[in-house]
Amino acid sequence: MTSTGQEPSIFSRIAAREIPATIVAETDRIIAFEDIAPQAPVHVVITTRTQQYRNVVELAAGDPGLLAELVSVAAGIAAERSNGQFRLVFNTGEASGQTVFHVHAHLLAQPGPGSPAGDDSLGEGSLAFR
Ligand code: AMP
Repeated sequence: MTSTGQEPSIFSRIAAREIPATIVAETDRIIAFEDIAPQAPVHVVITTRTQQYRNVVELAAGDPGLLAELVSVAAGIAAERSNGQFRLVFNTGEASGQTVFHVHAHLLAQPGPGSPAGDDSLGEGSLAFR
């Protein structure tokens, strides 16, 4: 249980190292890990340690600084793993495809020139996501 009496979300359990994941970046308030079902060559889930906010609208209203930190972490990961160009997707609501109601962004990108895949082109339509 969390302090608010909720069951820990799957992302809280990843942050607590109860469920394995490939963690890509962490700050005091943010954690990022590779998506288990990637939809693009670079697909990283970036979430808040708190599960207090169910979606990006709640996060923006409740803690805009934390949303800005999440975006900043996304940009840092894209600078390292991609060519700094990326999509950031916040599914919001079940009908939009949201399945985990703990705010998170999907960072979707092509690998950068220095990565093993070596393609730095976004390529029209190449990042189709659901
Ligand atoms: P959404 O559908 O926007 O709520 O996104 C949830 C994402 O979490 C999906 O892309 C899943 O593939 C991803 N996911 C679910 N479980 C895990 C896990 N154990 N490790 C990494 N990613 C996960």
